[in-house]
Amino acid sequence: MAKSSFDYIIIGAGAAGCVLANRLSSQAANKVLLLEAGETDTNEHIHQLGGFTQLWGSDVDWKFTTSEQKALNGRQILINQGKVIGGSSSINAMMHVRGNPRNFDCWREQGNEGWGYEDVLPYFKKIEDYDGGESPYHATGGPMSVRDCPDINARSEHFMNGAVEAGYDGPNWDYNGARQENGAGLLQFNITKDGQRHSAATAYLDPVRSRTNLTITTGAEVTKILIENGRTVGVEYNQAGETKQVYTDGEVIVCAGAFVSPKILMLSGIGPADQLQAHGIDIAVDLPGVGQNLQDHLQLPVIYRSNVELPTPTLLTGNVLFTSTKNGRPGSTPDLQLNFIPAAPAPLLPVLPDFGGPVCIFLPILVQPQSIGEVKLRSANPYEAPVINPNYLQAEADVQVFQRALEIIRTIAGATAFGDLNGGEIAPGAMELDEFIRANVSTLWHPAGTCKMGQDAMAVVSADLRVKGIDGLRVGDASVMPQVTSGNTHVPTLMIAEKLADMILV
Ligand SMILES: Cc1cc2nc3c(=O)[nH]c(=O)nc-3n(C[C@H](O)[C@H](O)[C@H](O)COP(=O)(O)OP(=O)(O)OC[C@H]3O[C@@H](n4cnc5c(N)ncnc54)[C@H](O)[C@@H]3O)c2cc1C
Repeated sequence: MAKSSFDYIIIGAGAAGCVLANRLSSQAANKVLLLEAGETDTNEHIHQLGGFTQLWGSDVDWKFTTSEQKALNGRQILINQGKVIGGSSSINAMMHVRGNPRNFDCWREQGNEGWGYEDVLPYFKKIEDYDGGESPYHATGGPMSVRDCPDINARSEHFMNGAVEAGYDGPNWDYNGARQENGAGLLQFNITKDGQRHSAATAYLDPVRSRTNLTITTGAEVTKILIENGRTVGVEYNQAGETKQVYTDGEVIVCAGAFVSPKILMLSGIGPADQLQAHGIDIAVDLPGVGQNLQDHLQLPVIYRSNVELPTPTLLTGNVLFTSTKNGRPGSTPDLQLNFIPAAPAPLLPVLPDFGGPVCIFLPILVQPQSIGEVKLRSANPYEAPVINPNYLQAEADVQVFQRALEIIRTIAGATAFGDLNGGEIAPGAMELDEFIRANVSTLWHPAGTCKMGQDAMAVVSADLRVKGIDGLRVGDASVMPQVTSGNTHVPTLMIAEKLADMILV
């Protein structure tokens, strides 16, 4: 039987994989294969704005769980991740947040030439079709719809004006614009003009599905990369119980997300030698950083009784504030994102307790965690989930960010402009703060950093995202971030993939 051979094999049709499939197949001479473990994105909840919480725990969710987290009283945290065309982009909350310019400048300062803010801004603009129009910071005509919060019930003047009273920029402040900290404004979303989720799949893949040089194979779980004499020659995957192999003379690009990309590398013999040996895996290259440097964002619900009965919002949240709790320290990037929900939102109704009346919710998010974790192989069995240990709140500095967030929240809640809503703090209320934080934080589903780019001994890929020590192999997803960005991670991941596509195509 003839061997199937492609110029590019992309592993994982998530946020990054969809971008790469689109861009690499734009040149007719390139034969591209996109392999996805999940199935197509036909589940109706994927396309309804408030429907995505229904998908958590379903068959389009990998349902990863952390190991026991010491600093969270031993709690294990469920981390949903999309197992479907579009990946986590098909089950996420659609918030469009680029991150802070300092995030990218820090990446460049670590030897990653070409990844500073000035370098990546054109890619952020290339992604978007912004309904607010063109400016030095925004663009129209890109694949991904970007809209200021379209849900009128999720917009809160109370919050934004309260933040202004507390000294922040606003209320019409654009955090994806000229200055990305110390302001409050409306969140931007990946929602189409006719009110549908715009995932990486619907924005990047649907328009090009008919290209004859692009093959999309679903239900295909990649188990390892095939390597011969230090060069990638193909991949092995399982489809409906059958083991299959596909080959390439070009490149394999791993886009399986921050938990599975390092797992696939390790199963292929690329990783920390001692860990591979312990599982009886032959070593192709000893790369101690594979699976290390795991960073994730944590969220903490702070609940107020509300004096006003507002209509139920369709979106999780509509308003945001970014700031640094360490303002004034040289080089500090925003470490706090504060989302606000003026009334219990529809997607959360099934899980929220009955507070006996209307509530509003502040959601402080730790966006520059100092606690660093790791992803390790559980065994050499490719179908076993990896061991995920984010070491949440292991660093005391992370707890302090939440403590300072509470001070900021109480200042905003006490502002005259917020007055109507403030019917008194329910949680934490009288609870001891440290205890409240450790008992109530949970993931914001933003794992990153486990195949980081850089030049130090723990770097896995170089600035062109090539895996060190192996030819014909790159990683192109959220795993390559040296530090997680100060905000939601979807758009930074799209940016990484857009930039990688350009690097490959020139
Ligand atoms: C519940 C939730 C809410 C979120 N909300 C937001 C938000 O509002 N805004 C925001 O910016 N970010 C949000 N995110 C984060 C954002 O979606 C991710 O940062 C982004 O999707 C990461 O892209 P990725 O390509 O690295 O991984 P993913 O998008 O997760 O894609 C990985 C893909 O690889 C596939 N795969 C895995 N293993 C294999 C294998 N062995 N073989 C073949 N395929 C495989 C997966 O099935 C998946 O399709 C959210 C995420 C979640 C889960």
